[in-house]
Amino acid sequence: MSTQHGANPKHQFHPYAARVLDELRARVHWEKEYLQAVAEVFSTIRAVLERNPHYEGERILERLVEPERVIAFRVAWTDDRGRVQVNRGWRVQFNSALGPYKGGLRFHSSVTLSSLKFLGFEQTFKNALTGLQMGSGKGGADLSTRGLSRAEIMRFSQSFMTELYRHIGPDIDVPAGDIGVGGAEIGYLFGWYKRLTGHWEGALTGKGRHWGGSLLRPEATGYGLVYFAEEMLRTRGQGLEGKRVAVSGFGNVAWGAVKKATDLGATVVTLSGPDGYIYDPDGVKGEKIDYMLAMRASGRDRVEDYAERFGVEFHPGARPWEVPVDVALPCAIQNELSLEDAKRLVANGCTCVAEGANMPTEPDAIEYLQEQGVLFSPGKASNAGGVAVSGLEMLQNRAGAFDSEIEVDKRLRRIMATIHNDCVEAARRYGVPGDYVAGANIAAFTKVADAMLDQGVV
Ligand code: GLU
Repeated sequence: MSTQHGANPKHQFHPYAARVLDELRARVHWEKEYLQAVAEVFSTIRAVLERNPHYEGERILERLVEPERVIAFRVAWTDDRGRVQVNRGWRVQFNSALGPYKGGLRFHSSVTLSSLKFLGFEQTFKNALTGLQMGSGKGGADLSTRGLSRAEIMRFSQSFMTELYRHIGPDIDVPAGDIGVGGAEIGYLFGWYKRLTGHWEGALTGKGRHWGGSLLRPEATGYGLVYFAEEMLRTRGQGLEGKRVAVSGFGNVAWGAVKKATDLGATVVTLSGPDGYIYDPDGVKGEKIDYMLAMRASGRDRVEDYAERFGVEFHPGARPWEVPVDVALPCAIQNELSLEDAKRLVANGCTCVAEGANMPTEPDAIEYLQEQGVLFSPGKASNAGGVAVSGLEMLQNRAGAFDSEIEVDKRLRRIMATIHNDCVEAARRYGVPGDYVAGANIAAFTKVADAMLDQGVV
Protein backbone atom coordinates (compact mmCIF):
# COMPACT_ATOMS: atom_id res chain seq x y z
CA MET A 1 0.00 0.00 0.00
CA SER A 2 1.22 3.47 -0.75
CA THR A 3 2.76 5.23 2.24
CA GLN A 4 5.29 7.29 0.34
CA HIS A 5 3.39 10.53 0.70
CA GLY A 6 5.03 11.88 3.83
CA ALA A 7 2.01 11.36 6.07
CA ASN A 8 1.72 9.01 9.02
CA PRO A 9 2.47 5.43 7.85
CA LYS A 10 0.27 4.18 10.70
CA HIS A 11 -2.58 5.19 8.42
CA GLN A 12 -2.31 3.31 5.17
CA PHE A 13 -3.66 4.87 2.05
CA HIS A 14 -6.72 3.34 0.44
CA PRO A 15 -5.79 2.51 -3.19
CA TYR A 16 -8.38 5.04 -4.43
CA ALA A 17 -6.90 7.82 -2.25
CA ALA A 18 -3.35 6.86 -3.28
CA ARG A 19 -4.33 7.05 -6.95
CA VAL A 20 -6.02 10.46 -6.65
CA LEU A 21 -3.04 11.80 -4.70
CA ASP A 22 -0.60 10.50 -7.32
CA GLU A 23 -2.65 12.12 -10.09
CA LEU A 24 -2.73 15.38 -8.16
CA ARG A 25 1.01 15.25 -7.56
CA ALA A 26 1.62 14.74 -11.27
CA ARG A 27 -0.60 17.69 -12.10
CA VAL A 28 0.62 20.22 -9.51
CA HIS A 29 3.92 18.80 -8.27
CA TRP A 30 5.20 22.28 -7.29
CA GLU A 31 2.31 22.91 -4.89
CA LYS A 32 4.14 21.36 -1.92
CA GLU A 33 2.00 22.74 0.90
CA TYR A 34 -1.19 21.85 -0.90
CA LEU A 35 -0.03 18.27 -1.47
CA GLN A 36 1.02 18.03 2.19
CA ALA A 37 -2.48 19.03 3.36
CA VAL A 38 -4.21 16.62 0.97
CA ALA A 39 -1.86 13.74 1.89
CA GLU A 40 -2.58 14.27 5.58
CA VAL A 41 -6.34 13.96 5.05
CA PHE A 42 -6.14 11.11 2.56
CA SER A 43 -3.85 9.07 4.82
CA THR A 44 -6.52 8.96 7.53
CA ILE A 45 -9.70 8.04 5.64
CA ARG A 46 -8.90 4.51 4.51
CA ALA A 47 -11.59 2.90 6.65
CA VAL A 48 -14.18 5.46 5.52
CA LEU A 49 -13.48 4.67 1.87
CA GLU A 50 -13.63 0.94 2.57
CA ARG A 51 -17.05 1.27 4.23
CA ASN A 52 -18.34 3.65 1.53
CA PRO A 53 -17.27 2.29 -1.87
CA HIS A 54 -19.79 4.59 -3.58
CA TYR A 55 -17.53 7.59 -2.88
CA GLU A 56 -15.12 6.24 -5.48
CA GLY A 57 -17.85 5.71 -8.07
CA GLU A 58 -19.01 9.28 -7.52
CA ARG A 59 -15.38 10.51 -7.74
CA ILE A 60 -15.72 12.42 -4.49
CA LEU A 61 -11.97 12.71 -3.87
CA GLU A 62 -11.25 14.01 -7.38
CA ARG A 63 -13.94 16.64 -6.85
CA LEU A 64 -12.81 17.48 -3.32
CA VAL A 65 -9.24 18.35 -4.34
CA GLU A 66 -10.35 20.65 -7.15
CA PRO A 67 -11.36 24.09 -5.86
CA GLU A 68 -14.73 25.13 -7.28
CA ARG A 69 -13.20 28.37 -8.51
CA VAL A 70 -9.86 30.22 -8.36
CA ILE A 71 -9.83 33.95 -8.94
CA ALA A 72 -6.43 35.54 -9.60
CA PHE A 73 -5.87 39.24 -10.08
CA ARG A 74 -3.37 42.08 -10.21
CA VAL A 75 -3.21 44.45 -7.24
CA ALA A 76 -1.59 47.68 -8.41
CA TRP A 77 -1.24 50.51 -5.90
CA THR A 78 0.87 53.56 -5.18
CA ASP A 79 3.17 53.80 -2.14
CA ASP A 80 3.76 56.94 -0.07
CA ARG A 81 6.65 58.00 -2.31
CA GLY A 82 4.44 57.91 -5.37
CA ARG A 83 5.97 54.71 -6.79
CA VAL A 84 3.72 52.16 -8.42
CA GLN A 85 3.75 48.74 -6.71
CA VAL A 86 2.35 45.55 -8.19
CA ASN A 87 1.24 42.52 -6.18
CA ARG A 88 -0.76 39.39 -6.92
CA GLY A 89 -4.13 38.71 -5.29
CA TRP A 90 -6.23 35.54 -5.17
CA ARG A 91 -9.48 34.15 -3.82
CA VAL A 92 -9.80 30.39 -3.84
CA GLN A 93 -13.50 29.48 -3.56
CA PHE A 94 -12.96 25.94 -2.46
CA ASN A 95 -16.15 24.16 -1.56
CA SER A 96 -19.73 25.37 -1.14
CA ALA A 97 -21.43 22.09 -0.19
CA LEU A 98 -22.17 23.29 3.36
CA GLY A 99 -22.78 27.01 2.81
CA PRO A 100 -21.33 30.16 1.23
CA TYR A 101 -17.54 30.12 0.79
CA LYS A 102 -15.98 31.21 4.08
CA GLY A 103 -12.38 31.79 5.13
CA GLY A 104 -9.75 34.41 5.74
CA LEU A 105 -7.56 36.68 3.66
CA ARG A 106 -3.80 36.52 4.23
CA PHE A 107 -1.48 39.39 3.33
CA HIS A 108 2.04 37.97 3.63
CA SER A 109 5.11 37.69 1.41
CA SER A 110 4.90 33.87 1.59
CA VAL A 111 1.43 33.77 -0.04
CA THR A 112 1.22 31.72 -3.24
CA LEU A 113 -1.60 29.89 -4.95
CA SER A 114 -0.27 26.68 -3.33
CA SER A 115 -0.48 28.11 0.18
CA LEU A 116 -3.99 29.43 -0.43
CA LYS A 117 -5.10 26.09 -1.83
CA PHE A 118 -3.76 24.29 1.24
CA LEU A 119 -5.50 26.80 3.50
CA GLY A 120 -8.77 26.57 1.54
CA PHE A 121 -8.64 22.77 1.65
CA GLU A 122 -8.06 22.80 5.42
CA GLN A 123 -10.86 25.32 5.78
CA THR A 124 -13.28 22.89 4.11
CA PHE A 125 -12.85 20.44 6.97
CA LYS A 126 -12.52 23.03 9.69
CA ASN A 127 -15.73 24.79 8.76
CA ALA A 128 -17.56 21.46 8.52
CA LEU A 129 -16.46 20.65 12.08
CA THR A 130 -18.04 23.84 13.46
CA GLY A 131 -21.50 22.53 12.53
CA LEU A 132 -22.41 25.96 11.12
CA GLN A 133 -23.56 26.69 7.58
CA MET A 134 -20.22 27.52 5.99
CA GLY A 135 -18.46 26.35 2.86
CA SER A 136 -14.77 27.12 2.48
CA GLY A 137 -12.46 29.59 0.81
CA LYS A 138 -9.21 31.42 1.33
CA GLY A 139 -7.60 34.43 -0.29
CA GLY A 140 -4.93 37.01 0.02
CA ALA A 141 -1.96 38.66 -1.58
CA ASP A 142 1.81 38.27 -1.66
CA LEU A 143 2.45 41.41 0.33
CA SER A 144 3.77 41.78 3.86
CA THR A 145 2.34 44.83 5.51
CA ARG A 146 5.44 45.10 7.74
CA GLY A 147 6.79 48.65 7.58
CA LEU A 148 3.89 50.03 5.51
CA SER A 149 2.08 53.19 6.63
CA ARG A 150 -1.64 53.14 7.46
CA ALA A 151 -2.28 55.11 4.26
CA GLU A 152 -0.41 52.51 2.21
CA ILE A 153 -2.31 49.65 3.82
CA MET A 154 -5.57 51.45 3.08
CA ARG A 155 -4.71 52.06 -0.59
CA PHE A 156 -3.57 48.47 -0.96
CA SER A 157 -6.74 47.13 0.68
CA GLN A 158 -8.90 49.32 -1.56
CA SER A 159 -7.11 48.16 -4.70
CA PHE A 160 -7.50 44.53 -3.56
CA MET A 161 -11.23 44.99 -2.91
CA THR A 162 -11.76 46.77 -6.25
CA GLU A 163 -11.26 43.36 -7.84
CA LEU A 164 -12.62 41.10 -5.10
CA TYR A 165 -15.97 42.82 -4.50
CA ARG A 166 -17.64 41.32 -7.56
CA HIS A 167 -17.00 37.79 -6.29
CA ILE A 168 -18.19 38.06 -2.66
CA GLY A 169 -21.39 38.77 -0.69
CA PRO A 170 -23.26 37.50 2.38
CA ASP A 171 -24.73 34.51 0.52
CA ILE A 172 -21.81 34.00 -1.88
CA ASP A 173 -18.46 34.25 -0.15
CA VAL A 174 -17.63 35.89 3.19
CA PRO A 175 -13.92 36.60 3.73
CA ALA A 176 -12.36 37.47 7.11
CA GLY A 177 -8.87 38.11 8.44
CA ASP A 178 -5.82 35.89 8.69
CA ILE A 179 -2.08 36.66 8.94
CA GLY A 180 -1.53 40.35 8.04
CA VAL A 181 -5.26 41.09 7.92
CA GLY A 182 -6.67 42.30 11.25
CA GLY A 183 -9.36 44.72 12.33
CA ALA A 184 -7.84 47.73 10.53
CA GLU A 185 -7.56 45.94 7.17
CA ILE A 186 -11.08 44.49 7.49
CA GLY A 187 -12.30 48.06 8.13
CA TYR A 188 -10.67 49.37 4.93
CA LEU A 189 -11.85 46.38 2.91
CA PHE A 190 -15.41 46.71 4.20
CA GLY A 191 -15.54 50.48 3.58
CA TRP A 192 -14.45 49.98 -0.01
CA TYR A 193 -16.86 47.07 -0.57
CA LYS A 194 -19.69 49.30 0.69
CA ARG A 195 -18.64 52.16 -1.55
CA LEU A 196 -18.41 49.98 -4.65
CA THR A 197 -21.67 48.07 -4.13
CA GLY A 198 -23.74 50.65 -2.31
CA HIS A 199 -24.78 47.93 0.16
CA TRP A 200 -24.14 47.72 3.87
CA GLU A 201 -24.22 43.95 4.34
CA GLY A 202 -22.29 41.21 6.07
CA ALA A 203 -19.90 40.42 3.24
CA LEU A 204 -16.93 40.26 5.63
CA THR A 205 -16.48 39.09 9.22
CA GLY A 206 -14.09 40.37 11.85
CA LYS A 207 -15.71 43.79 11.59
CA GLY A 208 -15.39 46.38 14.38
CA ARG A 209 -17.49 45.66 17.45
CA HIS A 210 -19.39 48.94 17.05
CA TRP A 211 -20.31 48.44 13.41
CA GLY A 212 -21.53 44.91 12.89
CA GLY A 213 -18.75 42.76 14.27
CA SER A 214 -19.28 40.04 16.83
CA LEU A 215 -18.02 40.54 20.33
CA LEU A 216 -15.12 38.22 21.07
CA ARG A 217 -14.22 37.64 17.39
CA PRO A 218 -10.63 38.89 17.93
CA GLU A 219 -10.20 36.58 20.92
CA ALA A 220 -12.09 33.63 19.43
CA THR A 221 -9.31 31.61 17.75
CA GLY A 222 -7.01 31.71 20.78
CA TYR A 223 -9.81 31.17 23.31
CA GLY A 224 -11.19 28.27 21.28
CA LEU A 225 -7.72 26.74 21.08
CA VAL A 226 -7.31 26.82 24.84
CA TYR A 227 -10.84 25.42 25.39
CA PHE A 228 -9.92 22.58 23.04
CA ALA A 229 -6.59 21.94 24.83
CA GLU A 230 -8.51 21.82 28.15
CA GLU A 231 -10.85 19.19 26.69
CA MET A 232 -7.88 17.11 25.53
CA LEU A 233 -6.17 17.33 28.91
CA ARG A 234 -9.42 16.42 30.63
CA THR A 235 -9.37 13.02 28.87
CA ARG A 236 -6.34 12.35 31.09
CA GLY A 237 -7.86 13.83 34.20
CA GLN A 238 -5.84 17.06 33.92
CA GLY A 239 -6.35 20.76 33.19
CA LEU A 240 -4.27 23.77 32.24
CA GLU A 241 -3.99 25.07 35.78
CA GLY A 242 -0.37 25.11 36.92
CA LYS A 243 0.95 24.06 33.50
CA ARG A 244 3.87 25.72 31.72
CA VAL A 245 2.96 26.59 28.16
CA ALA A 246 5.04 27.52 25.10
CA VAL A 247 3.29 29.72 22.55
CA SER A 248 4.76 30.66 19.18
CA GLY A 249 3.83 33.82 17.29
CA PHE A 250 2.65 37.06 18.87
CA GLY A 251 -0.30 37.92 16.60
CA ASN A 252 -4.01 37.57 17.02
CA VAL A 253 -4.15 33.82 17.71
CA ALA A 254 -1.22 33.87 20.14
CA TRP A 255 -2.71 36.87 21.96
CA GLY A 256 -6.08 35.16 22.56
CA ALA A 257 -4.37 31.92 23.58
CA VAL A 258 -2.09 33.66 26.09
CA LYS A 259 -5.04 35.56 27.58
CA LYS A 260 -7.21 32.50 28.09
CA ALA A 261 -4.42 30.12 29.17
CA THR A 262 -3.32 32.67 31.77
CA ASP A 263 -6.95 33.11 32.94
CA LEU A 264 -7.13 29.37 33.47
CA GLY A 265 -4.03 29.37 35.67
CA ALA A 266 -1.30 28.38 33.19
CA THR A 267 2.04 30.19 32.83
CA VAL A 268 2.89 31.08 29.23
CA VAL A 269 6.67 31.33 29.06
CA THR A 270 7.40 32.01 25.37
CA LEU A 271 6.33 34.10 22.37
CA SER A 272 8.05 34.20 19.00
CA GLY A 273 8.44 36.26 15.86
CA PRO A 274 10.39 36.00 12.62
CA ASP A 275 13.42 37.28 14.57
CA GLY A 276 13.47 34.59 17.32
CA TYR A 277 11.70 33.91 20.61
CA ILE A 278 11.47 35.41 24.08
CA TYR A 279 11.59 33.41 27.29
CA ASP A 280 9.67 34.92 30.19
CA PRO A 281 9.78 32.49 33.15
CA ASP A 282 7.33 34.62 35.20
CA GLY A 283 4.73 34.30 32.48
CA VAL A 284 3.26 36.60 29.84
CA LYS A 285 0.49 38.23 31.88
CA GLY A 286 -1.18 41.53 32.77
CA GLU A 287 0.24 44.52 30.89
CA LYS A 288 2.55 42.15 28.98
CA ILE A 289 -0.50 40.70 27.22
CA ASP A 290 -1.61 44.22 26.27
CA TYR A 291 1.91 44.90 25.03
CA MET A 292 1.42 42.10 22.46
CA LEU A 293 -1.24 44.30 20.85
CA ALA A 294 1.14 47.26 20.81
CA MET A 295 3.87 45.13 19.20
CA ARG A 296 1.48 44.07 16.50
CA ALA A 297 0.19 47.60 15.92
CA SER A 298 3.79 48.85 15.53
CA GLY A 299 4.04 46.80 12.32
CA ARG A 300 7.68 45.98 13.14
CA ASP A 301 7.09 42.22 13.10
CA ARG A 302 9.73 41.49 15.76
CA VAL A 303 9.43 40.05 19.24
CA GLU A 304 12.79 41.30 20.52
CA ASP A 305 10.99 44.51 21.53
CA TYR A 306 9.23 42.49 24.27
CA ALA A 307 12.56 41.26 25.66
CA GLU A 308 13.93 44.80 25.72
CA ARG A 309 10.82 46.22 27.34
CA PHE A 310 10.47 43.60 30.09
CA GLY A 311 14.09 42.58 30.54
CA VAL A 312 13.72 38.90 29.64
CA GLU A 313 15.83 36.55 27.50
CA PHE A 314 15.70 36.82 23.72
CA HIS A 315 16.93 33.93 21.55
CA PRO A 316 17.61 35.24 18.05
CA GLY A 317 16.85 32.98 15.10
CA ALA A 318 15.56 30.15 17.32
CA ARG A 319 12.15 28.54 17.96
CA PRO A 320 10.49 28.27 21.36
CA TRP A 321 10.25 24.46 21.29
CA GLU A 322 13.58 24.04 23.12
CA VAL A 323 12.11 25.39 26.38
CA PRO A 324 10.84 22.75 28.88
CA VAL A 325 7.02 23.00 28.97
CA ASP A 326 3.98 20.81 29.59
CA VAL A 327 1.92 22.15 26.68
CA ALA A 328 2.93 23.64 23.30
CA LEU A 329 0.61 25.88 21.28
CA PRO A 330 2.08 26.65 17.84
CA CYS A 331 0.21 29.81 16.77
CA ALA A 332 2.43 31.36 14.08
CA ILE A 333 2.49 29.80 10.59
CA GLN A 334 2.62 26.53 8.65
CA ASN A 335 5.54 24.11 9.14
CA GLU A 336 7.03 25.87 12.16
CA LEU A 337 7.45 22.73 14.31
CA SER A 338 9.82 20.11 12.87
CA LEU A 339 10.68 16.54 13.92
CA GLU A 340 13.73 17.88 15.78
CA ASP A 341 11.51 20.33 17.65
CA ALA A 342 9.03 17.56 18.48
CA LYS A 343 11.85 15.38 19.88
CA ARG A 344 13.05 18.22 22.07
CA LEU A 345 9.53 18.92 23.35
CA VAL A 346 9.00 15.26 24.28
CA ALA A 347 12.44 14.93 25.89
CA ASN A 348 11.57 17.95 28.03
CA GLY A 349 8.30 16.43 29.23
CA CYS A 350 5.69 18.04 26.94
CA THR A 351 2.47 15.98 26.88
CA CYS A 352 0.10 18.10 24.77
CA VAL A 353 0.51 19.96 21.46
CA ALA A 354 -2.54 21.83 20.16
CA GLU A 355 -2.26 23.69 16.86
CA GLY A 356 -3.43 27.32 16.83
CA ALA A 357 -2.00 28.07 13.39
CA ASN A 358 -2.95 26.18 10.23
CA MET A 359 -0.69 23.12 9.69
CA PRO A 360 2.20 24.39 11.86
CA THR A 361 3.48 20.87 12.60
CA GLU A 362 5.40 18.97 9.92
CA PRO A 363 4.08 15.47 9.05
CA ASP A 364 6.98 13.51 10.56
CA ALA A 365 6.73 15.60 13.74
CA ILE A 366 3.01 14.73 14.04
CA GLU A 367 3.84 11.07 13.59
CA TYR A 368 6.50 11.22 16.29
CA LEU A 369 4.28 13.06 18.78
CA GLN A 370 1.49 10.54 18.28
CA GLU A 371 3.87 7.60 18.67
CA GLN A 372 5.10 9.07 21.93
CA GLY A 373 1.56 9.27 23.28
CA VAL A 374 1.46 13.09 23.23
CA LEU A 375 -2.04 14.56 22.92
CA PHE A 376 -1.94 16.21 19.50
CA SER A 377 -4.69 18.19 17.82
CA PRO A 378 -4.69 19.47 14.22
CA GLY A 379 -5.47 23.15 13.61
CA LYS A 380 -8.58 22.31 11.63
CA ALA A 381 -10.11 21.15 14.92
CA SER A 382 -8.39 23.19 17.61
CA ASN A 383 -8.27 26.55 15.81
CA ALA A 384 -11.84 26.38 14.49
CA GLY A 385 -13.05 28.81 17.16
CA GLY A 386 -12.13 31.81 15.00
CA VAL A 387 -14.20 30.83 12.01
CA ALA A 388 -16.94 29.55 14.34
CA VAL A 389 -17.40 33.03 15.81
CA SER A 390 -17.26 34.39 12.25
CA GLY A 391 -20.21 32.08 11.61
CA LEU A 392 -21.96 33.57 14.64
CA GLU A 393 -21.19 37.06 13.28
CA MET A 394 -22.92 36.10 10.01
CA LEU A 395 -25.98 34.95 11.96
CA GLN A 396 -26.03 38.16 14.00
CA ASN A 397 -25.77 40.29 10.84
CA ARG A 398 -28.67 38.39 9.27
CA ALA A 399 -30.79 38.89 12.37
CA GLY A 400 -29.68 42.50 12.83
CA ALA A 401 -29.22 41.74 16.52
CA PHE A 402 -26.13 41.22 18.62
CA ASP A 403 -25.23 38.70 21.29
CA SER A 404 -23.54 39.63 24.54
CA GLU A 405 -19.95 38.64 25.22
CA ILE A 406 -21.11 36.03 27.72
CA GLU A 407 -23.47 34.53 25.14
CA VAL A 408 -20.79 34.35 22.41
CA ASP A 409 -18.28 32.86 24.84
CA LYS A 410 -20.78 30.23 25.92
CA ARG A 411 -21.51 29.27 22.30
CA LEU A 412 -17.80 29.19 21.44
CA ARG A 413 -17.09 26.93 24.39
CA ARG A 414 -19.92 24.62 23.42
CA ILE A 415 -18.77 24.46 19.78
CA MET A 416 -15.19 23.59 20.80
CA ALA A 417 -16.44 20.89 23.18
CA THR A 418 -18.63 19.46 20.40
CA ILE A 419 -15.76 19.45 17.91
CA HIS A 420 -13.60 17.69 20.50
CA ASN A 421 -16.29 15.12 21.10
CA ASP A 422 -16.89 14.58 17.36
CA CYS A 423 -13.15 13.98 16.81
CA VAL A 424 -12.91 11.54 19.71
CA GLU A 425 -16.04 9.66 18.61
CA ALA A 426 -15.02 9.42 14.94
CA ALA A 427 -11.55 8.18 15.91
CA ARG A 428 -13.07 5.57 18.20
CA ARG A 429 -15.65 4.45 15.62
CA TYR A 430 -12.98 3.97 12.98
CA GLY A 431 -10.54 2.08 15.20
CA VAL A 432 -7.95 4.78 15.93
CA PRO A 433 -8.90 5.94 19.44
CA GLY A 434 -7.14 9.07 20.67
CA ASP A 435 -6.02 10.07 17.17
CA TYR A 436 -7.36 13.62 16.76
CA VAL A 437 -5.92 13.99 13.26
CA ALA A 438 -7.84 11.00 11.96
CA GLY A 439 -10.91 11.87 14.06
CA ALA A 440 -11.11 15.43 12.71
CA ASN A 441 -10.55 14.33 9.12
CA ILE A 442 -13.09 11.51 9.26
CA ALA A 443 -15.81 13.54 11.02
CA ALA A 444 -15.43 16.46 8.59
CA PHE A 445 -14.89 14.41 5.44
CA THR A 446 -18.07 12.37 5.83
CA LYS A 447 -20.13 15.54 6.38
CA VAL A 448 -18.78 17.27 3.27
CA ALA A 449 -18.76 14.17 1.08
CA ASP A 450 -22.35 13.29 1.93
CA ALA A 451 -23.53 16.86 1.26
CA MET A 452 -21.75 16.75 -2.11
CA LEU A 453 -23.41 13.44 -2.95
CA ASP A 454 -26.85 14.80 -2.05
CA GLN A 455 -26.29 17.81 -4.33
CA GLY A 456 -25.48 15.77 -7.43
CA VAL A 457 -22.65 16.22 -9.89
CA VAL A 458 -21.52 19.80 -9.40
N1 GLU B 1 -8.41 32.86 9.06
C1 GLU B 1 -9.13 32.17 10.06
C2 GLU B 1 -8.97 30.67 9.87
O1 GLU B 1 -7.92 30.22 9.45
C3 GLU B 1 -10.58 32.64 10.20
C4 GLU B 1 -11.41 32.55 8.96
C5 GLU B 1 -12.79 33.20 9.08
O2 GLU B 1 -13.13 33.69 10.15
O3 GLU B 1 -13.48 33.21 8.06
O4 GLU B 1 -9.82 29.89 10.16
